[in-house]
Amino acid sequence: MSKNTPKAIRGTQDIFGADAEAFAFVVETFERVRKLYRFRRVEMPVLEMTEVFARSIGETTDVVGKEMYSFEDRGRDNVTMRPEFTAGIARAYLTNGWMQFAPVRVATHGPLFRFERPQKGRYRQFHQIDAEIIGAAEPQADVELLAMADQLLKELGIEDVTLHLNTLGDADSRDRWRAALIDYFRAVEGQLSEDSQERLEKNPLRILDSKDRRDQQFLADAPKIDQFLSDDAKAFFKAVTDGLDAAGVKWVRAENLVRGLDYYRHTAFEFIPDAGSASADALGSQSTVLGGGRYDGLMESLDGPVTPAVGWAAGIERLAMLVEQRSEPMADAVVVLENNEHMMQAVQLVARLRNAGFKSELFASGSPRKRFDKAKKLPSHALVTFPVTDAGVTVRVLGDGGETHTAVEQLVLVDH
Ligand code: ATP
Ligand code: MG
Repeated sequence: MSKNTPKAIRGTQDIFGADAEAFAFVVETFERVRKLYRFRRVEMPVLEMTEVFARSIGETTDVVGKEMYSFEDRGRDNVTMRPEFTAGIARAYLTNGWMQFAPVRVATHGPLFRFERPQKGRYRQFHQIDAEIIGAAEPQADVELLAMADQLLKELGIEDVTLHLNTLGDADSRDRWRAALIDYFRAVEGQLSEDSQERLEKNPLRILDSKDRRDQQFLADAPKIDQFLSDDAKAFFKAVTDGLDAAGVKWVRAENLVRGLDYYRHTAFEFIPDAGSASADALGSQSTVLGGGRYDGLMESLDGPVTPAVGWAAGIERLAMLVEQRSEPMADAVVVLENNEHMMQAVQLVARLRNAGFKSELFASGSPRKRFDKAKKLPSHALVTFPVTDAGVTVRVLGDGGETHTAVEQLVLVDH
């Protein structure tokens, strides 16, 4: 590489080979599972007006405060490259009148942008799969959404990750809990991390989420939401956990689990690798693979009507790190042209093979002498070699190692 070759931007990735296959496997499995649960596919813009995120996610969060890619575009609008899907989907629900379909179940995936410190499992451009149910107040929506997440992980072959579940209560419960947390942490304010001292008045729930040792020593004894839950909030949480039990979804209670974003109410959850498991090893400190919850307060922050909703998102890269190594799919046939005279016959043959549904690759460039050696190394069920002799082309079948000569016309007639 010349020193004048441009570099990739820090925190972006060029995904290739087995990693790209694992990535595609995650997306394909998600597409299959979302159809099982009857979620509709939506495609969302990467760019939104900055206020979409600022108003709904909340100014005091890390995402809005420190991580957004925001700029003024050539038309002098303040725009942001989406750091998450939910706010844009909520905006779309309001601008397109999707309430006519309510409750609406939507799923999407694609790139997101956050200006974070890049490390393993943490990038500045990363990708998520995302599922939302909008306009549904009942705990049954939470159950469906969690059952879908659980089934997705199982179908990806990820068995050592568990649902950690909490409730943040309704607005009243949450406010009372918040006040108690402020009192509790204020008493030890000087010993908290600088970040948490700053969060204390603005977003004290976030202290519970802190990875800093100075904060963690106070977490076990911090006031718990259960003391502040209203009867309605308790009943809601019980309906969710009963539903999960009925659907066969394993869960554990995580009393300190909060979501970083301001709009969450009631159910909050994360799927986290079990301690000491292979997935925990693979992910290191970036341990959450899938997170979400109920965001009944969000639509109002965008001036919309009261609209209960629940959703989750999962990092595709983190999931891809947990799926078994995936190699690129095998070809059904590799066609090698050792003599360019037969180019048109070879082109015709691969066209017919592909039309008949066989995954085929043509080796017809580079040194004719080396083509055969290269083609032999590709994983394939059959290797077809030109030139055509009187007996036809040479076909070697993988496995039994048999070699036959067949007329080209006969080739495509064999069964898969
Ligand atoms: P974290 O605590 O790891 O920063 P978060 O709370 O910011 O996560 P969410 O906003 O809930 O994450 O996003 C959901 C999922 O998206 C995460 O569980 C993770 O799998 C993935 N994710 C979030 N940020 C990144 C990133 N910068 N790079 C790769 N994946 C990410
Ligand atoms: Mg984050």
